[in-house]
Amino acid sequence: MKLKKIVKFEGKIVCLTGLCIGGTNNDINIGGLDKEVIKNPVTNEPYIPGSSLKGKMRSQLEKKIGKIDRNPCGCGQKDCDVCLLFGAHRNPGAPSNPTRIIVRDAKLSEETKTLFQSLPAERGSYLEFKGENSINRERGTAESPRFFERVPEGAKFDMEILLQIYDRDDEDRLLNAVRQSLELVELSYLGGSGTRGYGKVRFDYEEGEIDI
Ligand SMILES: [Zn+2]
Repeated sequence: MKLKKIVKFEGKIVCLTGLCIGGTNNDINIGGLDKEVIKNPVTNEPYIPGSSLKGKMRSQLEKKIGKIDRNPCGCGQKDCDVCLLFGAHRNPGAPSNPTRIIVRDAKLSEETKTLFQSLPAERGSYLEFKGENSINRERGTAESPRFFERVPEGAKFDMEILLQIYDRDDEDRLLNAVRQSLELVELSYLGGSGTRGYGKVRFDYEEGEIDI
């Protein structure tokens, strides 16, 4: 089996609602944030880890083809789009190997950095801070406030996904599986608290072929 070509899915991940992804719980620090956004330790800019996007694409595709289990699919069959694209879970000798897809970390776009830096100083942060309460239904009072950090709506991240196609692969099938998994993430969410409105995203991308 020989590597035939690579298809690059390149573009932007656009946040249509606030995004809270990949952070740590900071509950030791009293008065601190309950949920933080993951950031590049050098630049302090938020980013979307490739592992988070890949994991979400995978789990959405698993739902679509009916492979829902407690663990990711590890069947390793040559006709399993999930194992072909994302790798057979805990099955290193799987016939479906090697993993066809590479999902890069998505950095904050230059356009978004420039936009945020142009905001007034007190708002010149890449992040918003959101407080949420639980409502006591008997008393009608707000209780136990929690504080979240979010990437604000409108932020854009640089997207790069590479699909490696081998000579014996069904190219159209693999391409369609990638497109479909991205579409299914758009119809779901990225990061945490998606059922409460966070993490709606759109993928604006183009596909380019690289012959090798
Ligand atoms: Zn599988």
